[in-house]
Amino acid sequence: MEDFDYYEILEVAKTASADEIKKAYRKMAMKYHPDKNQGDTEAENMFKKVNEAYQVLSDEAKRSNYDRYGKAGLGGGSQGAGFGGFEDFSDIFDSFFGGGQRASRREPRENLDVAAEVHIEFLEAIFGCKKEIKYRYDKQCTVCDGTGSKTGKRESCPACHGKGQIYQKQGFMTFSQTCHVCRGAGSIIKDKCQKCSGIGKEQVDEKFSIDIPEGIDDGNRLRVAGKGSVGKSGNRGDLYVIVRVKEDRVFVRHDDDIYVEVPVFFTLAALGGKITIPTIRGEREIEIKSGVKDKEHIVIKNEGVSNVHSGARGNMIVQVKITYPKKMNQEQEELLKKLHESFSHNHGNEPHHNVFEGVFEKVKSWFKN
Ligand SMILES: [Zn+2]
Ligand SMILES: [Zn+2]
Repeated sequence: MEDFDYYEILEVAKTASADEIKKAYRKMAMKYHPDKNQGDTEAENMFKKVNEAYQVLSDEAKRSNYDRYGKAGLGGGSQGAGFGGFEDFSDIFDSFFGGGQRASRREPRENLDVAAEVHIEFLEAIFGCKKEIKYRYDKQCTVCDGTGSKTGKRESCPACHGKGQIYQKQGFMTFSQTCHVCRGAGSIIKDKCQKCSGIGKEQVDEKFSIDIPEGIDDGNRLRVAGKGSVGKSGNRGDLYVIVRVKEDRVFVRHDDDIYVEVPVFFTLAALGGKITIPTIRGEREIEIKSGVKDKEHIVIKNEGVSNVHSGARGNMIVQVKITYPKKMNQEQEELLKKLHESFSHNHGNEPHHNVFEGVFEKVKSWFKN
């Protein structure tokens, strides 16, 4: 089996959100789809890889195992490429060959990774911040030392006679099933520990501060190594911090670009001129060209968010909103009437002829973005 990185194949960052992974998968699957690349073995190979990567990265548990241990963490060993679950494969294998040592000794894999959410403000995500994370993890019960038993003793499971598997013979074949009484352990606890009710674990509340990097976005995950639950052998899983970013009243963020709607008074839209607008880094003056249209976009390069990985800045997109006076005094109304008449006499600039142009512009703008 060829070795390749699942994140690289989908062209996403290791911190990518579930949504970003889904989008990337759709894009890649479309690109390499066999219908579009008939007879192209290279594309076919890529299509398989993209599917394999998505199988793993779209599953929270598989993804965290992959993050920690690579492909070895997926339990498939070197045969890796299966499309279904890797665990299922070994189950099928066991049931065909009647269990054997491998099955009876197999214990459910400990998942020691923990997830926590942190809520931050819009600008905190853009410029980075320090935040306190509060979360809960498991460790072995201190009373029973993780055994779940008062005396620390376990006894052989009466349902499976200590094998952990129940066997059924059908014709030539013997099928095995994990014992539902001991869940495959082969032994049960007789006198349950009072502190943990036989679970063998206790919960610990923890809090500490983490640095949230500049440019982080809603749904991104930060991995803090060694802050997860404590396993039987004393090893610790990881903590995954999922970042939730609040919306802003003024700005809208899309990836590393910032959108803002700016009111432009109709006389200024006609004449052109300078206006002051808010940006994420403070106020700034921009030039409005004469004849600017409603909903027109003015792009200010490099005034967006610094990308969390590359540091490259996105753009700021200013959308013009042409505003009109709610009320006019007599003098203003007369001035406007005079202006209107002066255009009506000047051929080629008749306002009535241009009514439909405005309508079409608006309809077109519905399809932008
Ligand atoms: Zn206990
Ligand atoms: Zn049993």
